[in-house]
Amino acid sequence: MKTNFLNRPSVIHDPPHVLENIVLGDPIPAKHFRLDVDHDGIAWLVFDTLKSSANIWNEETLREFNHHLEAVEHDTRVKALVLKSAKERIFVAGADIKLIRNLPHVRVNDLIWLGQAVFDRLARLRVPKIAAIHGACMGGGFEVALACDWRIASDHPSTKIGLPETQLGILPAWGGSTRLPRLIGIRKALDLIAGGKLLNAEAAKRAGLVSHVVAAENLDTLARRLARVRRPHLRFRFENLFSWFIGRTAKRKVLEKTRGLYPSVTKAVDVVSHAVHGDIDNGLLLEREAVAELIKSREASRLIDLFFKREEANKRPAATGTAIPIHDAVVIGAGVMGSGIAHTLASRGVRVLMTDVTNDSLARGLERIHGLVSEATRRRLVTRVKGRDTLDRISTTPVPVPLNRHHLVIEAATETMELKKKIFADLAGRVANDTILATNTSALSVAELARTVPNPERVIGLHFFNPVHRMPLVEVITLPETSPDVLATAITFVQKLGKTPVVVKDSPGFLVNRILIPYLMEAVRLHDSGIPVNDIDEAMLKFGMPMGPMRLLDEIGLDVAAHVAKSLAHAFPDRFPHTDALDRLVAAGHFGKKTGQGFYRYKDGREILPDVHYDLPRHESIQTNLALLISQEAMRCLKEGIARSADDIDLAMVLGTGYPPFRGGPITFARDTGIIDY
Ligand code: NAD
Repeated sequence: MKTNFLNRPSVIHDPPHVLENIVLGDPIPAKHFRLDVDHDGIAWLVFDTLKSSANIWNEETLREFNHHLEAVEHDTRVKALVLKSAKERIFVAGADIKLIRNLPHVRVNDLIWLGQAVFDRLARLRVPKIAAIHGACMGGGFEVALACDWRIASDHPSTKIGLPETQLGILPAWGGSTRLPRLIGIRKALDLIAGGKLLNAEAAKRAGLVSHVVAAENLDTLARRLARVRRPHLRFRFENLFSWFIGRTAKRKVLEKTRGLYPSVTKAVDVVSHAVHGDIDNGLLLEREAVAELIKSREASRLIDLFFKREEANKRPAATGTAIPIHDAVVIGAGVMGSGIAHTLASRGVRVLMTDVTNDSLARGLERIHGLVSEATRRRLVTRVKGRDTLDRISTTPVPVPLNRHHLVIEAATETMELKKKIFADLAGRVANDTILATNTSALSVAELARTVPNPERVIGLHFFNPVHRMPLVEVITLPETSPDVLATAITFVQKLGKTPVVVKDSPGFLVNRILIPYLMEAVRLHDSGIPVNDIDEAMLKFGMPMGPMRLLDEIGLDVAAHVAKSLAHAFPDRFPHTDALDRLVAAGHFGKKTGQGFYRYKDGREILPDVHYDLPRHESIQTNLALLISQEAMRCLKEGIARSADDIDLAMVLGTGYPPFRGGPITFARDTGIIDY
């Protein structure tokens, strides 16, 4: 029997023509779901996308889901419906973005309509519906859960819940923008949707996204219990009466923060603040209209492309070579980077031996690690137990000990070639012949270091960025002699740490610093020629950089920047922006934020706000000048084969420097705008 789709009093009163076939079509064989009704009348609908490690929504899975709902609607035995996943770490990963990217716009609109219609059907089922969430529950995955009466989650670390659509330049349009503010109130909903945030199970419970958090093995029992109790009612949210005011304030803040460069975020704020009123259909209509417009934008297209580039880099194995699993590692140096690296490794299950020359340096390093762990537990990003496990995996020694049982050493000692060579030569005598020797150097030649050890094919660069726990990029620096197994191991290891590896050649500045430093030096030169720091920073903030170049220099430290700039200027003398302004500041003892004076002045670590008189017309020419410089250097790196592809360069610049993601990266930007002749 078929439901009369067209007569239902819901969003689906006038579906696009193609949907009639889909929703009214004949039942299709069960491929991606299993539906079982047990003796208690509970219908267990288990999502298990065929031939895929992830459950995703596309026309086929939505259509099959719809037919199961229809079966449930007409099965009088059914007293409750539990939706769950058969995948190990994924509840539902969301919509099939690949499909969306390749569909003509009109078909995307149909798909949006279809998802809304099917989830609406779920919401209107007469029996209680329970989403038993274990693993990633994102975008359309959470939207289907929002159409249920109960959402319960496993406490497993893979459980991550949220609506990240704005990060892709679109917004939640399968009911998420409409149902979430009704569930948790407009303020929190705006925060989650505009920020595209994903929450772990505990945080999701605190935010009201789920009602219970239990161990994965107890999800079914809890679902069974909830199937028998009365459905929860949506709480009256007083604040939703003021959505107009709250939305306006949120929009002002968003515009200040994004400078209007991310239309999806402002649009999401508009839609959520309006969709919270009236009936659900009204909200769904607003969602459809907004997403239809956003999906056509260049920003969405660039953000979606970047998403795929990152996914690929996070999963792509090395072309050749066999990776060996790394369970323990040595980190040499307990400074800012060494302690950061040790913390990241240990938090991902790697046992770490951290060394330094004195007990004091080790103590300071451990203190930094304790700080990171307490901050993460305070913000409930990790449980206390996990935090303690991380600390338990780290041991330290100030004296040289045999290291022949370790497969990987990461050197993160002070940046001088002489010292690093000494460390490498000494290591060679204490490690096994095949122990991988990695350096975290920012700018020194990895090849020169490799020459100090026997079997240089095991030497590689692993360039983490600061702060290590936040920065997602690791440059993997290879030499012509690097063995394929070493490279494969390094790539897999970085991926296991949850970071994105980008393979680059050993060359001055590697990739990111090579592109970034000339840009920073050109900014210094502009300032030296009389342009105020505020105008330079403001121009680049308007371009979409997360921080202006002058402020960034103050953060990095002018002494450090001057040092790196010198070695790059030496390598590329013909085209390096010439200025000695940085040296003058350093000579005067102005090292940036850490000394209270750089291009800006600081007191107690906070900037003393200068008088600002922007010269607005000048901003465009500053932007063009600096953006061009970045793209030109990126193109040179591509031509010289410093990175393997334009995609890798774009990705590295976005992840390593915060280059505006909606521009797709410096090479895509150059292509889109034609600022460089190919
Ligand atoms: P740091 O000064 O904070 O720490 C260096 C540590 O190395 C100190 O604790 C020092 O005692 C220790 N050390 C010196 N000689 C040693 C030896 N023989 N054996 C063991 N330890 C020794 O420096 P950092 O910022 O952590 O930088 C470390 C490395 O990481 C450098 O190569 C740097 O270029 C690179 N790097 C730094 C950043 C950054 O932003 N700080 C970013 C990426 C890479």
